[in-house]
Amino acid sequence: MSDAPTLVKCLVWDLDNTLWRGTLLEDSEVALPDDIRRTIIELDARGILQAVASKNDHDHAWERLERLGVAEYFVLPQIGWHPKSQSIKEIADQLNFAMKTIAFIDDQPAERAEVAYHHAEVRCYDADQAAELTGLPEFSPAVVTVDAARRRDMYQAGFRRTAERESFTGPDEEFLRSLDLVMEIKPADEGDLSRVEELTLRTSQMNATGVYYSDADLRALIADPGHEVLTVTLTDRFGPHGAVGVMLLGYHERVWHLKLLATSCRVVSFGAGAVLLNWLITEAAESGVHLAADFRRTDRNRMMEIAYRFAGFTGDACDCLAELPAETAPDRADIEFRHLVAERRPGPTTMSVVGPALGAEDAAGAALA
Ligand SMILES: [Zn+2]
Repeated sequence: MSDAPTLVKCLVWDLDNTLWRGTLLEDSEVALPDDIRRTIIELDARGILQAVASKNDHDHAWERLERLGVAEYFVLPQIGWHPKSQSIKEIADQLNFAMKTIAFIDDQPAERAEVAYHHAEVRCYDADQAAELTGLPEFSPAVVTVDAARRRDMYQAGFRRTAERESFTGPDEEFLRSLDLVMEIKPADEGDLSRVEELTLRTSQMNATGVYYSDADLRALIADPGHEVLTVTLTDRFGPHGAVGVMLLGYHERVWHLKLLATSCRVVSFGAGAVLLNWLITEAAESGVHLAADFRRTDRNRMMEIAYRFAGFTGDACDCLAELPAETAPDRADIEFRHLVAERRPGPTTMSVVGPALGAEDAAGAALA
């Protein structure tokens, strides 16, 4: 597993004699070879973003990409006369991607050398290799999740949202309300599992325990009536944010055991974690149970500790905790509980929440099982 190469998250294309045959400013026509078109479409389907770094007149080159029918596949086109190392830095910064996840393809050895000189971690490829990229392990994610297949849409929606936010002059809460945010919470099905697993792997700052649940663990828990695996998605008028949270709940008679809560860093500014916790607290109140949340301090999840404290969880003891199973697994030995006596909370003012009714029947079913 440690031999697997770091996956490329964004491929940056040169245009002249790399993406298309010909030089736009010299040749009257340039052509997009079929195998390059197939490569672009396939990488997109795998959730790998694609950008452009080209020394050309911006409008002229972009218009040509549109005419070739591939403009929509590219984010953050850098078309102009600055050094390509600078274009790549701009792309990486805007995406918030590490340089080691960026790849660059260009027919000019001097351009590749210039990029490699400034960003040693960027993987550079010669234009000859374009049609082979989809066969390379660094461009081949093991699992393509629902979200990966629409990653480009999500990023493009994100750029529009950011632009709107920057031009918005009112208070933050007003901006959030203007987004028409909808949070949807639903029991995970088999198809959601890969995205849930991806979330628990990728959200170390926002994971309350740092415990990793594998696909097989979660599959077993989905089928278990004593547990609930919930996925959280967020959408607004700009488009989907995709899967932004996962929650794993164990039902007991007097207490619900929140074993995993992980939310995506992408939605921290929307207050998604607090909205989710308040929704859960209200559900627990309606079923007349307490909540106990697993918590383990890691060097990265202080935000989660604050989220629990803000929601009213404490480290106090309570009789209900006796219902929780004793931990025997070594990777869970130092997990503590955060406890809360649930009371109904008012709904959020910044988004609407759609969620299933939790508990009662399920809890009774689990208790009888
Ligand atoms: Zn209690």
